[in-house]
Amino acid sequence: MHELAIAQSIVALAEQQAQNRHAAAIEEVELEIGVLAGVDVKALDFAMKSSVKGTLMENARIVRHDIAGEGRCGDCANVFPVNRLFENCPACGSYAVNILKGKELRMKSIVMATIGLQP
Ligand SMILES: [Zn+2]
Repeated sequence: MHELAIAQSIVALAEQQAQNRHAAAIEEVELEIGVLAGVDVKALDFAMKSSVKGTLMENARIVRHDIAGEGRCGDCANVFPVNRLFENCPACGSYAVNILKGKELRMKSIVMATIGLQP
């Protein structure tokens, strides 16, 4: 399953960051997922739940931002919302559309709990 692989790489990346900073746990991970990224977010949520078990991310809150799609027409330069790939320009009907937004899949931030902060 595609989403399981994505979930596992998110967890691996977050854990690596936490280990680099000697964090005790990961409290929150913020993700940005574009509507055109080809990710089934329900399947990803489900995959995350199993992927975080036994990791530093086990109790982390996952904040997901869905990024809307946006494209610019290569023929008339019209900028318009895109909800699926291969949509044509609503102004001139051209299929020469450059996707500006909506394909992102990235980790925006990680909040970690550190150890050794006692006075
Ligand atoms: Zn156009």
